[in-house]
Amino acid sequence: MSQLQDRFNSIVKKIEERFTDPEDLNFIKKQIADIAMLYMDEVNKIMDFSEKRVNQVYENQKLLEQKMSQIEKGMDHIEKELYIEDEDYDFEIVCPYCNHEFVSDNIASDVKEIECPECHNIIELDWNEEESGCSDGHCSTCHGCGEETEDTNEESESQEEDNEDDDM
Ligand SMILES: [Zn+2]
Repeated sequence: MSQLQDRFNSIVKKIEERFTDPEDLNFIKKQIADIAMLYMDEVNKIMDFSEKRVNQVYENQKLLEQKMSQIEKGMDHIEKELYIEDEDYDFEIVCPYCNHEFVSDNIASDVKEIECPECHNIIELDWNEEESGCSDGHCSTCHGCGEETEDTNEESESQEEDNEDDDM
């Protein structure tokens, strides 16, 4: 920008050397200023335009990202439906160690054990409920048949104590 200024000044200097009449000089200087303003106007328009273009590209990209995430959601949905047909299950699991309830989705039927996200104990999954009943009560599908008298159920013991307050 300072280079532009230098060149502009040198042009004005040359004109001043040539035209000694102050009236002529002022007229020419005014013309040059007008031309410069015209160019500045044009440059501003171009800058404005390119800024608009950049914004447009940015907006388009945001739109594209939104569409992509919509497609991804759709894919997710399709994937889940396919997985269900493919013998995978959404499973509500109650941890026998800490009583933490969590849903584990897409467990393949050949998965035999899963880690509790709360206490990180390994929970065995019993898939053959009809065959063996629930021998150890560790699966989520055996509410009612497995007795909840595990030695490790410390939380349920404290809940029983609370109920005694209701008696009058
Ligand atoms: Zn647990």
